[in-house]
Order: sequence, then structure tokens, then C-alpha cells
Amino acid sequence: MIDTVIKNKSKCTGCGVCANVCEFEAIKMNRDTEGFLYPSVDYSLCKKCKKCISKCPSNQDKKRESFMDCYAIYSKDSVAKQASSSGGCFNLLAKYVLENGGAVCGAAFDENWAVQHIIIDNCDDLYKIQTSKYLQSTVHNTFSEIKKIVLSGRLFLFSGTPCQVNALRTYLGQDYENLILIDIICHGVPSPMVWQKYLKSVAGNDTVTKVNFRDKTNGWATFSMRIDSKNNSYVRIFPDDPYMRLFLDNFILRPSCYDCSNKDVNRFADITIGDFWGIDNCLPELNDDTGISALTVYTEKGRKLFDIIKETAIYKSVKQEKITASNSAFYSSVAKPQNRDKIMMTLSKKSRIDFDKAVKACKKTPFLQKVKRKIKKLLRR
Ligand SMILES: Cc1cc2nc3c(=O)[nH]c(=O)nc-3n(C[C@H](O)[C@H](O)[C@H](O)COP(=O)(O)OP(=O)(O)OC[C@H]3O[C@@H](n4cnc5c(N)ncnc54)[C@H](O)[C@@H]3O)c2cc1C
Repeated sequence: MIDTVIKNKSKCTGCGVCANVCEFEAIKMNRDTEGFLYPSVDYSLCKKCKKCISKCPSNQDKKRESFMDCYAIYSKDSVAKQASSSGGCFNLLAKYVLENGGAVCGAAFDENWAVQHIIIDNCDDLYKIQTSKYLQSTVHNTFSEIKKIVLSGRLFLFSGTPCQVNALRTYLGQDYENLILIDIICHGVPSPMVWQKYLKSVAGNDTVTKVNFRDKTNGWATFSMRIDSKNNSYVRIFPDDPYMRLFLDNFILRPSCYDCSNKDVNRFADITIGDFWGIDNCLPELNDDTGISALTVYTEKGRKLFDIIKETAIYKSVKQEKITASNSAFYSSVAKPQNRDKIMMTLSKKSRIDFDKAVKACKKTPFLQKVKRKIKKLLRR
């Protein structure tokens, strides 16, 4: 069954569609030693119907949408923008849906600072699902509730990584006029286990009161990791923060992120949002370093929504290459460092980690690599 199919971990995104479609409740999602969710099958309940395999998003050949229009965009609401990762366009899209009787699903912290997708239906709760949380969010618990809401005809917006959007589309099995799918440009998702250990290393036994992966006190381009606890406040700009280093240098990503089949210039979503990192190369006049998003429209549904919210934003049309030129995460997977598995094993074994030291250890070239390089050099002579 599904656990044998995903023996090769690089094929499983942990979306949990298999667990959701199993009528016999034979599949549970359990965490491995790296902290990522994978299906495990209880063979005393399994009837070998193979639905888990046929419904697995990695076994589907679904149609991708081709892009229609691309924009550089930011919200006119400076408070909402400041509280968002880039230009605050998610806030605008979600607010429209909520103000028109709809519901929205996005990633939120729970009481233990783990990340779960939740469904909200009023603007007062929007702050919970705003801003990027740089670790994998648990999404599969929301799928059946989403289906109920979508079938009721209510407007619904789902936002998540490209693999989560593909998973929801596969789970639902068809498109719905009242369902809007938004995916983010995704570098890859870090391990929830590493995140918890990192949080402990920063806050110790102090109670954490607020986390912001994208604090803009030093600007949008040089954003900071900020962790407030009862008696302390930790702020480091991202190049100096060890968790962000491990994330952006690709050491703590889910195995499937190194071979992601969900990213492409064509998508499974209606709209794709991300940071417009190359803005100074094409529209520098729009960049005041408080945040600017790249927004790509893929469907008529997406275009309709964009046409409504654009009144509340500052935007300019751009060519898609202007977005992808400085953001290869849009369409391609990051490379897996040679010593990634070793680093992850060390991080999972240790209960207390000195994260600054862990970053230094990552930079050390593995012995075998050094030997190979030396041999190559000798052969070249
Ligand atoms: C793991 C991850 C990697 C990313 N990598 C890149 C990248 O390489 N390049 C780039 O341009 N942009 C990347 N982004 C997207 C970027 O951080 C912003 O989310 C995006 O620019 C939208 O910003 P905003 O201001 O419109 O809205 P925000 O309010 O900042 O965006 C929030 C949206 O992101 C969703 N979200 C937050 N955390 C998660 C999560 N853990 N899993 C799934 N969905 C989540 C929320 O549901 C919400 O819809 C990444 C985001 C995440 C979560």
C-alpha cells in the first residue's frame, strides 16, 4: 500500500491525502526522526483497495494552468503590509473573501508554536494566517472540512505551498467556481523538529509570546527573525540567524523539496504569490523597502479576484521573466547539500543544539569530498 510506494521519501510531500481517502481509517500520518509526516498503514484495518495509491497526488497527471498576467504589487494599507512578509497581497485577497461571507484556510501557529493550517471566517482572525512561517505546516486535517464548505457553495480561499494546493485539488477531484487556490513561491519547507529545537535554544524555559520570521524593523530586504518571550526579545537579521541559514542553505528541508514536482512556471493554482526580489532591476520606483510582492494570475477566476482587489493596491504589470529571474524557487527545486542527511541526523539525535556551531559544521567540507577534489586536481596536472 501507500507506505511501500513512498519508501522513496523524495516522492512523499506529507500532504495526507492517502489518510483522508482511506474509508477504513487504516492510514495514520506519523513523524519520522527528521520531524516530517509520512503515512503508516495499519494492515489489520487495510482492505487493499489501493485507493491511497490511486489518489496520491504524486501519481496524478493533472493539467497545469498557464500564466495569464504578472504583477509587482503591494497593499495600500501600510499597517497590513508591515504585518505581512512581502507586499501584503495575501491580506487583500483573504479580506475580500472574508468580507463577502467566505472562509479562508492558511497556516497558523498553534499553542506550542507548531504550524497547522486552520480555517477562519472573520477578519479579526486574519492575523493568525498572515506572514510566512518557515517550517512545514500540517494541512491534511482541514481537507474534509474544506470539502463541506466548498460543496455548500460558500466562497472559499485556500493558500499554501504548491504541493499543498496540488493535494487539495487531488483530494477534491474537480474544480469548483467558488474555490480559489493560491500558492506561494516556495523555497522548500524546513523540518518542524528542527524548528522546535531551535525555539528551545533561543527561549530556553521562558514562555514564547510572539514569533515573526519576517520582522521588517530593518527593512524588507534585510528582514529579521524575531522571537519574543516573557523576559527576552531575540532579533537577528536573517543572514546572521542560524535557523534561517540552515533553511536558506538547504540543510533542513523535507526530502521531497529537493525534487519537487509541483513547482513550474505553470501551476495548479489560480494565483501565485511571492516576494518580488528582483524589483530593483525593473521597477525600482516601487521599492521603498517595506515589502513588495510578485503576483501571477493563472485562471479567469484568479483574474476576477485580482481585478476586484487591485483597487486597494499599488501595482504594475510585468513580464514573468522579471519575477523568475531573481527567484528560481518559482520553478525549480533547490540542490541537496552532500552532507544534508548527516547534518539532519545530528540535529535529530541531539536534544540540545548549539545552532551557531551547527551552521559552522555545515560549512565544513566532508572528508570524502575533500579527497575527491584532491584526486581531480592531481589528475588535471
Ligand atoms: C516555507 C516557505 C518558503 C517560501 N519561499 C519563498 C521563496 O523562495 N521565494 C519567494 O518569493 N517567496 C517565498 N515564500 C513566500 C513568502 O514568504 C510570502 O509568503 C509571500 O511573498 C506572500 O507574502 P504576503 O505579504 O502577500 O502575505 P503573507 O501574509 O506574508 O503570506 C502568508 C501566506 O503564506 C501562507 N503560509 C505561511 N506559512 C506557511 C507554511 N508554513 N506553509 C504553507 N503556507 C504558509 C499563509 O497561509 C498565507 O496564505 C515562502 C513561504 C513559505 C511559507
